Amino acid sequence: MEPSKFLKVKCKKCKNEQIIFNKASTPVKCLVCESELLETTGGKSKIKTSILEVLD
Ligand SMILES: [Zn+2]
Repeated sequence: MEPSKFLKVKCKKCKNEQIIFNKASTPVKCLVCESELLETTGGKSKIKTSILEVLD
C-alpha cells in the first residue's frame, strides 16, 4: 500500500498549482478551472495531472 502524502500538483489546463492529498476519498478538482486533478475509483485514488513535488 502506498504511503499517504501531500503532493504539489499543477493543473494541466490552467497551470494553477495546488496541494492535494494523494489518499483523498473523493475526487479533487482544480480550484480555478474545476478540472479534475484526482479521481477515485473503487476506493483508490489516481492523480490525473502533473506532480511537481512530493511533500512529507
Ligand atoms: Zn485548473
